Amino acid sequence: MVKAKRVYFFGKDRGEGDASMKELLGGKGANLAEMARLAIPVPPGFTISTEVCTYFYGHGRTYPEGLAADVDQALREIEKGMGQRFGDPENPLLLSIRSGSRSSMPGMMETVLNVGLSSSTLPGLVKKTKNERFVYDAYRRLVMMYSDVVMEKAAGIEPAEGRGIRHQLDQMLSEVKKAKGYKSDADLDAADLRDLVARFKTRVREVLGKDFPDDPREQLWGGIGAVFASWNGKRAVSYRRIEGIPDDWGTAVNVQAMVFGNMGDTSATGVAFTRNPATGENLFYGEWLPNAQGEDVVAGIRTPNPLNEATKGEHNRHLPSLESTMPTTYRELDLIRVKLEKHFTDMLDIEFTIQEGRLWMLQCRVGKRTGTATLNIAMDMLAEKLIDEKTAVKRLSPAQLDELLHPIVDPKAEAGVQRLAGGLPAGPGGAAGQIVFTASDAVAWAKEKKHVLLVREETNPEDVEGMRAADGILTARGGMTSHAALVARGWGKCCIVGCSALHVDARAKTLKVGDRTFVEGDYLTLNGTKGYVYAGELPMISSTENPRFMQFMAIVDKYRKLGVRTNADTPEDAAQARKFGAEGIGLFRTEHMFYGKNSEKPLFALRKMIISKTEAERRKALDELFPYVKKDVKDTMAAMDGLPVTFRLLDPPLHEFVPHQAEERAKLASSLGISADEFEKRAEALHETNPMMGHRGVRLGITYPEVSEMQVRAIFEAAVELTREGKKALPEIMIPVVGIKAELDHQRALVDRVYAEVCGRMSVKEIPFLYGTMIEIPRACLVADQIAETAEFFSFGTNDLTQMGFGFSRDDIGGFVPDYIEKKILAADPFQTLDQEGIGQLVTMAIQKGRAARPKLKLGICGEHGGDPASVHFCHRAGLNYVSCSPYRVPIARLAAAQAALAG
Ligand code: ADP
Ligand code: MG
Ligand code: MG
Repeated sequence: MVKAKRVYFFGKDRGEGDASMKELLGGKGANLAEMARLAIPVPPGFTISTEVCTYFYGHGRTYPEGLAADVDQALREIEKGMGQRFGDPENPLLLSIRSGSRSSMPGMMETVLNVGLSSSTLPGLVKKTKNERFVYDAYRRLVMMYSDVVMEKAAGIEPAEGRGIRHQLDQMLSEVKKAKGYKSDADLDAADLRDLVARFKTRVREVLGKDFPDDPREQLWGGIGAVFASWNGKRAVSYRRIEGIPDDWGTAVNVQAMVFGNMGDTSATGVAFTRNPATGENLFYGEWLPNAQGEDVVAGIRTPNPLNEATKGEHNRHLPSLESTMPTTYRELDLIRVKLEKHFTDMLDIEFTIQEGRLWMLQCRVGKRTGTATLNIAMDMLAEKLIDEKTAVKRLSPAQLDELLHPIVDPKAEAGVQRLAGGLPAGPGGAAGQIVFTASDAVAWAKEKKHVLLVREETNPEDVEGMRAADGILTARGGMTSHAALVARGWGKCCIVGCSALHVDARAKTLKVGDRTFVEGDYLTLNGTKGYVYAGELPMISSTENPRFMQFMAIVDKYRKLGVRTNADTPEDAAQARKFGAEGIGLFRTEHMFYGKNSEKPLFALRKMIISKTEAERRKALDELFPYVKKDVKDTMAAMDGLPVTFRLLDPPLHEFVPHQAEERAKLASSLGISADEFEKRAEALHETNPMMGHRGVRLGITYPEVSEMQVRAIFEAAVELTREGKKALPEIMIPVVGIKAELDHQRALVDRVYAEVCGRMSVKEIPFLYGTMIEIPRACLVADQIAETAEFFSFGTNDLTQMGFGFSRDDIGGFVPDYIEKKILAADPFQTLDQEGIGQLVTMAIQKGRAARPKLKLGICGEHGGDPASVHFCHRAGLNYVSCSPYRVPIARLAAAQAALAG
């Protein structure tokens, strides 16, 4: 048997792997190999595959036989490339050990740098570099990272909040700086560091009960194991749950020769984006620090310097750019930027280190960006001919599009108030809410449906769940490339970092800005697009009228095959949906006019109708109701001028509308001329045990044909009047809750009668309309062929179809569906994402049977699923003519439909 390859080398101009091997090598390893192949300078290294991770978890955290030998062999290759030896006392090679999963999980797993420093290698390195300060700085970093990542986290030790070893060592470092009056880590000299490391090691022994390992090989394997273990670390698990990344993918481990950004003033480290990740602007955008290493930039410990002059902002104008400090190296980096974008045809996020003037690339990956940036980058790259239209359409995810439709701080309100503070605009849009100071508070408050802003001293990937729960994130420290900013941007979350005017005291739960103090629960407003913070709660507005957005959507429409309609119940909703590109109304709920604004009069008439006992009484009430229904119907068709409108006849159980207050009941009784007793009796008679499956939908129209008649008459008359006014009306009459063909026939006879009557009375020869039904009862799917003999269209009401198909009460799922999801009995809430394998079969069956009976049958969906991207893909494959969804989901459905068509 050929032994599976487990270790992949990359080095000068050569890589055993490449960018296509992300599943096996993780994103980082695959792209390091790809960069090496592109002759971009990458320190040599090797990647241990994700299959080893799978083995590791499947075999009690052990490694496959022979792995050690493979690692040794690859290590010798690195040694050759670097001209150094791992563990060599004269000329030691140091290593970095890094995680890397298939899809990037910024900051969620672990890295250990400077592995290989020990009592035997330290003196040699000092001698060789003649830089004792550098060597001890590297060593203190190794001790900090290793004790945290390997000796604590990977060992499963869970210290109390603020008692973790890394935090303790950080504090010791701060104390030294404070005592000596140093401003930054770079001020510590060799003696300070040597002394500090000695005390670090003592503290490690006290806290963790073990000595810091002094053997380079022990460090190497400790690091490898810890990186594999970090796949199941708390942060990583939370992040995967939120992002829907499968637990069984596993991480790869990258072992790589160290290069040093902390060797003095000609050394540096930095992180950059090939274009601005917040706005998409085509400018090289990044941050760097001189004489620094590794996480210094991304951890938000110091406010980093800007990469170049063009992207300097208010907050960092005074800081030196890399462009002006090291112009040659900057130019070299800028050329790599262009080369990478051309090769990957996308915006990339890169990490680099400069060791004594020499540039090294440490990472590149497709960069996370805001919805706005995604849109702008896709449109720019299209214009630059880097990508084609289809690729542009695929670039923006439906969730990012959603973000583009989301609110921003009302500029009018914003103009009138004083800014409280300013920071870096790390995540776009606006957010107003009550401040909380810990991630767990953010989660708890959000559960109570409060809008919260998470306020922290610094960005910290440990806070991932709180960041998710909060409406916005505000931090005092950190840069645009900090992990938290990266993650927030990925979610399209409003986020401001590095807001240095803030003094956050998480323990006391207070925030001081100048002489003002805010406590937990106080309101603030964030403008994440500009980085401005305001006291109090400012109003938000929607952010749509963007020409770029319109151009993009026009391209999207070229590629989709599904029509997109909207569910709208008012002329205003209809108008809004049209602006978003709706091609008709797929669901107009007649009953909507009895709720909310201006509903008082029609509701009173409806209630009279409901409480009526005789047909005569009922007809009188219906006559009163008629003008309201007709006006609503007419205004809606007018707003959709020429586009089809599906009117669903009255659907809910009547008892829902009986008033509860005594005063209302008395008024109603007197208007009908009946006693209070009689009223109670009639109301009581309407009561049902299980109204969801009770006297509703078509069943009402069968018992009270005059109720259907009134609505149908309103629709026909409105259509005739509109035509006379020079407009076009295309009504579609939809009968709800049908399960039996005869129900539909019964109502059809009534429709024909009213049609003839209206045509005669208004002297018109014909009124164009369609007659159809909602398919929402499982039986209707089973006999869809019969139903299609009468129905000219089907509209799948997948909310009720799911309810009745599963036998899950829509109104009571809160009690058990979350458990089902948590226990993996269901993959998703079937009321949000259509259950394709079950309910989907009912839909497909109805389509087949329906089309067999009537080939031109028009098919649509009007359940909530019509705006859910995964469900839209299903609708495309199932061959529906259109989906219908709420107005704000219309652009999302359009995009999902185009992406479904492009997916083939
Ligand atoms: P993450 O996945 O969190 O970005 P990385 O594996 O990229 O973690 O490592 C974090 C940081 O460590 C990098 O940004 C880089 O600065 C530093 N680093 C990693 N490998 C090396 C190396 N071979 N030489 C120098 N620094 C390194
Ligand atoms: Mg990291
Ligand atoms: Mg990285």
